[in-house]
Amino acid sequence: MSDCLFCKIVARTIPATLVYEDDLVVAFDDINPQAPTHTLVIPRKHVTSIAELEDSDVGLLGRLMLAGNLIGKLKGVADSGYRFVINTGKDGGQSVFHLHLHVLGGRHMAWPPG
Ligand code: AMP
Ligand code: ZN
Repeated sequence: MSDCLFCKIVARTIPATLVYEDDLVVAFDDINPQAPTHTLVIPRKHVTSIAELEDSDVGLLGRLMLAGNLIGKLKGVADSGYRFVINTGKDGGQSVFHLHLHVLGGRHMAWPPG
């Protein structure tokens, strides 16, 4: 989608600190980190939110999560632990409407989330 911020990061027309990429997903550090590790994993293809995924996207969803695990290892937080967050829609707190998995780590995470 031409006016989507994260599609522009995938296309490299907006800079980002890339952490990982493969044929299905791209991962880059969040510009406003909420923890010492805060990386976003996104599908290369434009998907507005996780609510838009279909049965045919099961492989993509699996890769998104497995890439999140890889980010945990690459960032050195796999042993201390980390949190996956996928904000969805207005009440979910989503602000960028291209599906993204937040990988947060490097500090203790509170529960319940705000
Ligand atoms: P959400 O509120 O779940 O939609 O998360 C959107 C995230 O994208 C926020 O954590 C922002 O800090 C992050 N973000 C926005 N613009 C950029 C950018 N240009 N590069 C990296 N992260 C960004
Ligand atoms: Zn997009």
